[in-house]
Amino acid sequence: MRRTPIRRVSKKRQAYAPVRALWGRVIRQGGRCIIPGCPHPPQACHYWPEGKYKRVRVDLDNGFPACFYHHIEGWHKDPDVQQQIKDILLEQRGQRWYDRLKMRRDAATRPDLAAIKVAL
Ligand SMILES: [Zn+2]
Repeated sequence: MRRTPIRRVSKKRQAYAPVRALWGRVIRQGGRCIIPGCPHPPQACHYWPEGKYKRVRVDLDNGFPACFYHHIEGWHKDPDVQQQIKDILLEQRGQRWYDRLKMRRDAATRPDLAAIKVAL
C-alpha cells in the first residue's frame, strides 16, 4: 500500500505563503495587463525574480500586472517584450522607483514579513 508522503513545510515558508498570496492580490488589483490594449486578465509578475531575489519578493514595487501570455511568453521568453515592459515601468514609475527597488534588492537586512503583511 502506498502511503501519502508527509509534506514538510518549513516555518519560514508557512509564514511567507499568505503574505505572498496577499502580494499577488494587490498587484492584480485594477485588473489590467501592463501591455496597452491587452484585454486579458493579469497575473502578478515579479520584476526581479522571487526565487533569486528574496529581499523583494513581496515588495509591491517589485510587482506588475501582466496577463499569462505577456508574463510567460513575453516577460520571461521574449527579450523585445521584456524591454517593452521595462520601458513602460520606468516611464510610469520613474528612475527613483528603479534605484530604490534595486537598493532593497541588494540590502543586507531581510524585510520584516509581519510589517509587510500589515502594509499590504
Ligand atoms: Zn497581456
